[in-house]
Formats: sequence, C-alpha cells, structure tokens
Amino acid sequence: MQSYKTFEIIKSKTGDKTTTMLSPDVSVCNDCQNEMKDPADRRHNYPFINCTNCGPRYTIITEAPYDRAKTSMKDFPLCGKCLDEYNNPASRRFHAQPNACFDCGPQLALFDSEKKEVTCNDIIQETIKLLKSGSCIAVKGLGGFHLAVDAENTTAVKQLRAIKERGGKPFAVMTDSLDTIRSFAEISPEEEHLLTSFQKPIVLLKKKDETGKLSHDVAPDNNYIGVMLPYTPLHVLLFENGLKALVMTSANKKSEPIVIDNEEAFQKLDQLAEYHLMNNRDIYLRTDDSVARIINNKTAFMRRSRGYAPMPLFLNKKYSQVLAVGAEQKNTVCFLQENKAIISQHIGDLDNPSAIDFFKMTIDHLKRIFDLTPEIIAHDLHPDYTSTRYCNKLDNIKKIPVQHHHAHIASCMAENNHNGPVIGLAFDGTGYGTDGKIWGGEVLVADYKDCQRMAHLDYSSMPGGDAAVKEPWRMGLSLLYKALGNDCFSDTIPLFSKTGVQPDKADIIFQMIDKNLNSPETSSMGRLFDGISAILGLKNKISYEGEAAIRLEMVASDNNGLNSYDIRPGAFNDKGILRVSTSDIVRAVVEDLANGESIPVISRRFHNTIIDLFSDICGKVRDKTGINDVALSGGVFQNRILLEGFLMKLQGMGFVVLRHVLVPCNDAGISLGQALIAAERVKESQ
Ligand code: ZN
Ligand code: ZN
Ligand code: FE
Repeated sequence: MQSYKTFEIIKSKTGDKTTTMLSPDVSVCNDCQNEMKDPADRRHNYPFINCTNCGPRYTIITEAPYDRAKTSMKDFPLCGKCLDEYNNPASRRFHAQPNACFDCGPQLALFDSEKKEVTCNDIIQETIKLLKSGSCIAVKGLGGFHLAVDAENTTAVKQLRAIKERGGKPFAVMTDSLDTIRSFAEISPEEEHLLTSFQKPIVLLKKKDETGKLSHDVAPDNNYIGVMLPYTPLHVLLFENGLKALVMTSANKKSEPIVIDNEEAFQKLDQLAEYHLMNNRDIYLRTDDSVARIINNKTAFMRRSRGYAPMPLFLNKKYSQVLAVGAEQKNTVCFLQENKAIISQHIGDLDNPSAIDFFKMTIDHLKRIFDLTPEIIAHDLHPDYTSTRYCNKLDNIKKIPVQHHHAHIASCMAENNHNGPVIGLAFDGTGYGTDGKIWGGEVLVADYKDCQRMAHLDYSSMPGGDAAVKEPWRMGLSLLYKALGNDCFSDTIPLFSKTGVQPDKADIIFQMIDKNLNSPETSSMGRLFDGISAILGLKNKISYEGEAAIRLEMVASDNNGLNSYDIRPGAFNDKGILRVSTSDIVRAVVEDLANGESIPVISRRFHNTIIDLFSDICGKVRDKTGINDVALSGGVFQNRILLEGFLMKLQGMGFVVLRHVLVPCNDAGISLGQALIAAERVKESQ
C-alpha cells in the first residue's frame, strides 16, 4: 500500500473511457510537520498545512477530475506564494490541490455551544486549556467531527459516556506519542508499523495491567484499547502543547452518521459538546476513522474507512461494472470496474433516515468521481433490508440477490484472489438463509457462482426476536431449555443464581418457545456465544453490538493445554447436511458449572470446543469433496481466540486457510463478496 503514498491521480485513456484513481486522505507527512514546527517557516503552526504527499483527498472532492475547482478548496483562491508552489515542478506542492497557507487557506475558529465565538489570543492554547479543565469539545477533523475529552480525566470521560448513551462500549484514544501508548498498552512491531502508517487507523492494543494515568473508564471490561496517533496538522498542534491522550469519538447522535457540517454540529451536538473547534473548509464526504488490530502478525480490520477508502482492491480478472449494496449493518457499497473492486468508506447501520441518505449519497458520489455506470446490481437475499428495497426501486438494471453467508465467503476468496471452491466457515450474528431462517453458524462449500450448505449449528429459538439479540439472557434460557427441558434450573448456573432470572420469568420464555410466539429459529454462532455468555452470568443485556460475546472472549483463561469438551460432530443426514448440536455443548458447560469449574476455564473450553468441532467438520467435508482450502469469514472471527485457534488447528490438519486481511470479516465485507458473485454469475449466463 505504501507505494501509493505519493500518487494523486492516474488517468489512463482506454478508448474514450477515462479510468480514474483517487487517493484516500493521507495523514500529515514528516516534511509538513517539520515546516509546522519551524518558527521561520511561513506555515509555522498552520493547522491546514499539506503537500502532494499528504492531506485531504477523498473527503473534499465533489467530482472528477481531481483538481481544486472540484473540491471544497474552491472557496480559497491561492495567494501568490501558494500559486508559485502549485506551478513549480520542483516544489513539493506542485499541483497539490489543497495547498494553502495562513493568507489564503482555511482558518480555525472556536465557538461555545451557543454559537458565540470564543475570543482568545491563541485558539490552540485555549482549546488545550478547556480540554484540561474537563470540557468536551467537538473537533472538526478530516472526515467528520470528533468529540474530544481528556482521557486522563475520569469525570470527563464518565460524563461523555453518559451523554452519548454509550453503555460500556470502549472509546478510542488519540495520544501524543508511542511512548504515551506504552504507558498503558503493549505494542508489537507489527502494531507499531500499523499505528505509524500513513493511514493512521485506530489500532486495538492489549491493555497493560497498570494503565498509568489513563482513565479506567475509557475501555472498561475490555482487555484491549483502541489507540491512534495524530493524523492532521491540527491534531499535531494540540498534542505538541501538553496534551497526552484524548478520547476521540465520532461525533454523532446515537447510530446516526458522523457529523460533518458546521451548522449540523451546532444543532446535533448541542447536548454533547460544550465547545466547537471548527474551520471553514467543507467536508463533502464523511469518512470515519478506520479500526484494525493485528492477529497472527497480520492486519484484521474492524472498519476500513479513512486512509483506505476508496483505494481499490486489485482482482486477478476483469469484470463488467457491478454495484453491490452490502448488508444492513456496518454497510459499505462496492463497485467493480475492470480488475478493481472499489469499496466505499464505512456507511454504518441503515436503520435511520440520515444513514440511508448517506448510503445513497455515497453511491452517487462514487459513480461520479469514478465515472461508473453499472448495469448489474447485487443485493442481499433479505427482502426487508434497506439496501434490498433501494434496489427494488431501480429500473433498467439487472438485479442479483446474494445469500448473506455466501457473500461473506466470497469476500474472503476475493481479497485472497482465490477462485474457489473452498470450504467456508461463515460465523456471524444474523443473515437471511435460503430457507427463510436466520443463519450464522454455517459450513459452506462455495465458489463465486454456487454455494452449498454442508453443516450448520442446530436451530435454536430466539424468544422475542430482536429482543433476544439485545437481551442475551433470553438466548441463554432458550439454549438451556432445548438442552435440558424444564429440569434446567440449578443454583450452579449463574444465569439463575447470580443474575436473578427467576423461574416464573423463565416459564414465560419457555411458553413463548413452545407456542412459537415471536420466536424465530436461528443457527447463528453469534447467538450461541451470547447465550453461553448469559448462562455464565457475564451479560444479561447488552449496550452495544456483540458485547456479550466480547465479554465471553475477554474472561477466557489462557489456554494452558485445556481440553475442549468431548463432542463429536455427528453425521451428514440424507440431504447431505450435518447439524451441529448446541445442546451437547450446553450440557457440557452446565456439567462443568456443577463441578465448580471457574468461568474463565469454562469460557476457554467453550472456545476450544468450537474450534475443534468445526475443524473436525472441515475434515469431514474435505473427505467428501476433496477440497483442501478453508475460508474464514463473518463477524465472529473478530474474536482473536477463535481466529488464532482455527488458523493453528486447520493449518495443522494440512488445510490452506484463507483469512481477511484487506477488508473486515464482518458485514462491512459483504459488498465485495456480493459484487464478485454477481459478476461471475452474469458472466456465466452470457
Ligand atoms: Zn505533506
Ligand atoms: Zn497561500
Ligand atoms: Fe454477517
């Protein structure tokens, strides 16, 4: 990726068609930082310094080709000195479209929440003073506003958590230096490389037992913490003048997209921020911070956004133009253009009008800046997804529905340039199955065109439907009831003894299941993790997606040679499908509890059981099909124990194992898989 650092735009004329490549936004380069620090330089302390090697790109462009008039820099006519640099081939700012200085470029301004400008001598120093005194400040950045508070100030962090209704969800922090990070987290060489890369993502790092001055409330109940280094000149200025660590969280109303507009910031953040550190350079396309971690020495993205989008993935074949509209949660869209897959920035959950507007705007925007006119559109099989309904309204375009877990596996194949077939383990929370049920613990055999279900977790009821996702105690009861019937009550089960789920409350749930009242069936691995977490008394209600499963991972003990439970996978039925018993697993967990085994040990044995059981199943599928390549995809593979465990076990069994490195394994990767499946299917039918 590093080789793209200096490219601005490449135009190649193929016939009449112009293919365009546009750089992502790039964090402030060392040369610019040195100029900023030099009192003799005319850009000394200028918060919007940039050059051809760094600065805003994707977030400020309105249409192709990329030149100043087509960006939000059009409002800032270049001064004489900047123009000279712009026209001088020997200058680092030759044709740097966002080139600017104090005389001609964007300026900072500080406002209070009443929209009154704060008068002060030095805006940076004033902002630092306010942050140090505990204020929450909305800071306009590259791809949107952040809410910033001093990460060493527990009162301020707690207050931000409360007003943002954040529950226990960890905040990311930005720090002044690697040394500061080392005071509270461990950094491996690979993690350091990622932290300091020009994309400057948020990197999840292992917290130290002693977290120094960092407030415990930044990432409570989590062994990991998300950290990034300053990536705009403004950040550099803030951190050079005495700040050590700031919570920097996306500024938005609950589940809405990140705020980008100054007026919108005053309106939507009035309850959240006491001050606004703004500037007059417009952001055209919001782009959230990217989030990644290192697993087995390689990058694993949770979110691929700022710094990466719209950098294409290069494929080993050329395809017709396709638009794939992604999933309902963590939505991204993907365009295929010749041998490139252009994946959008993080769009988010399409459950509110602002997010849906952002979804449509991103599609239109990418079409415009890459000059795309797709004739094929791929969408999820789910009839009620926002993205599916969007497709249904379109005319004159070939629509191709794609099953959710097939898309997950195809996404993993695509980024590994693998044509299939593979054995796919698709483990996630929710996806619409071909039988109308909710899938998510799936073993598939897939290439791009076809997909066959070979094995899956046995169906369990989700009493209350969506409520069972938000309240894992319902899943816990459902699993216990299925495994043990009415005899499931026991004082040794923390769900009953510790978290106070009473028999009468449980009976209502059992009746719902018996009468099939609002209790859809699911084979989801995510729900199994939720249910086990609740049975172990770890989480009854969640405050953010995946919280119960994350708690289960976080409490797991070290491996120390712990056995998995002795559970055999069973046999393929007459339809060639193997159903994996969840009840065998639940009974083993309950037995361990009765024997007084500790929660960390049980959690670890549960993880090991999933790894061993499904690896055995991969072996069985290999025996049946001769396929030796396994692809791992779906949001559950964000679980480090599982991903590391499967890699080791499957490789030990002689499998070639494909994992995600370039796109997230979660639903943000779905659009890429959809695009490839649709393109290959259309090719086949031609
Ligand atoms: Zn630069
Ligand atoms: Zn200038
Ligand atoms: Fe999924």
